[in-house]
Amino acid sequence: MSTISVAGVDIDTRHYIGGKRVASPESYTNTSPIDGTFLGEIARGNADEVDAAVAAARAAFPAWAKLGPVKRGALLNKLADLVEENVEALANIETLDNGALLRSHLRGVMPRVAMNIRFFADYAINDLHHDVFETRGHTNNVSWDPSGVAALITPWNAPLMLATWKIGPALAAGDTVVLKPAEWTPLTASYFADLTKQAGIPDGVFNVVFGFGSEAGAALTAHPDLSRISFTGSVPTAKIIARSAADNLTPVSFELGGKSPCIIMADADLDLAAEIAVEQYDNAGQVCLSGTRLLVHESIAETFAEKFAAKAATLKQGDPRDPDTDIGPQVHRVHFDRIKGFVDRAKAEGQNIVIGGEPNTDLGGLYFRPTLVSNPTPGSEIVTSEIFGPVLCMQTFTTDDEVVAMANGTEFGLAAVVVSGDRAHAETITRQLVAGTVWVNCFFVRDLRAPFGGSKKSGIGRDGGTWSFDFYADVKNTVISPNGWKE
Ligand code: ADP
Repeated sequence: MSTISVAGVDIDTRHYIGGKRVASPESYTNTSPIDGTFLGEIARGNADEVDAAVAAARAAFPAWAKLGPVKRGALLNKLADLVEENVEALANIETLDNGALLRSHLRGVMPRVAMNIRFFADYAINDLHHDVFETRGHTNNVSWDPSGVAALITPWNAPLMLATWKIGPALAAGDTVVLKPAEWTPLTASYFADLTKQAGIPDGVFNVVFGFGSEAGAALTAHPDLSRISFTGSVPTAKIIARSAADNLTPVSFELGGKSPCIIMADADLDLAAEIAVEQYDNAGQVCLSGTRLLVHESIAETFAEKFAAKAATLKQGDPRDPDTDIGPQVHRVHFDRIKGFVDRAKAEGQNIVIGGEPNTDLGGLYFRPTLVSNPTPGSEIVTSEIFGPVLCMQTFTTDDEVVAMANGTEFGLAAVVVSGDRAHAETITRQLVAGTVWVNCFFVRDLRAPFGGSKKSGIGRDGGTWSFDFYADVKNTVISPNGWKE
């Protein structure tokens, strides 16, 4: 079967290559994390399908590149319009596929998908600096040229939203694309492929290959005909991709994991602090940016912990389609077991679990209770490893130097949150933090003009505004002499 019905919407489960649906000899089973419902059999791509997709993208590249940003922008804006018209379908499909909250998909995530495409299409037209300057009478002309075929490997925690952070700038820059979505959440990518067709994006400009990371993903990142590889996912997978890209010297952009600090200063508004801290459970903790290490000043730790516990107790766990639900299921059994493994090992070590610490047996399936580990042993894996689930740790500090050292004391550097009532004090801390993004008295505020990415093992490169084009485009300087002209 090549078409399945999900949330009343028809979805093709075959690859999208050169504007056509292409089957694979093998498939894999996709189920919903909400209740284990069978969703469909998905084409399981491998080297042959990847070769076909890269060849289609190569063939489509010259014409797409030549079209220029204005004509590309018109098609991409049409695509954004279609995403807006299909927010409800996309939201329902994504919720069934990855278990994230329907209300977030409807209100925030899917409208942002459209915004991502529109923003980068317009940015390529209006905001890139085509610098022109003189050197001893010679003119330097800086241009942002299309680079070729961009391979995009994306994760399952916000599938279409994160994919379009890459698809938007890649297509706007004039690159053609082969997308390999995460195997656990393939469905919105397929629906999106149909929208690209409806928008009139030429065949071969956007391609999707489904399948496993070790098969389709590995074949794609090893392909010699790529101009760029952009990947969002885990550090171990990034190392494999970096090795594979090295053989062809393909430039990479990586957005990886985190174990970000959420620092609560002694002078913080503790109600706000508790609210921000509880937000770190968003998306059932499956957010790379989450401030999973609550670092709390000793003098207010007890009061903060009470407020946090009271706030966390109000979170409603359940079916993500219910508008009252705050925390849904984990994405997949494998991932659920990974999270449970971390918590079980912490228990075995005698760590102090003060909230949750176990699956929600009332709900069964893949629902894990929001969990807090208090004063974990420094250096233990619960404080150093990314868990990517609803598991936070709380540690205390007494001095600024101590909290800065704790905050920066992991291999990651994706984000940091500081909650403080004193601007000058907050600034002395933020200046010393090693992180791609620092939020002060807020969380998750994101402007597409701003750089986004990770320091240390949290990534290579930055997305957003010019940073995205710096990666996807080939930046060129043309130097024109005043001499030799016949006019
Ligand atoms: P997780 O382990 O949480 O699923 P990954 O980083 O492994 O996170 O997965 C993110 C994306 O990377 C997915 O699309 C996955 O299919 C892909 N992927 C996994 N392994 C590889 C690999 N060896 N080569 C290329 N892509 C891969």
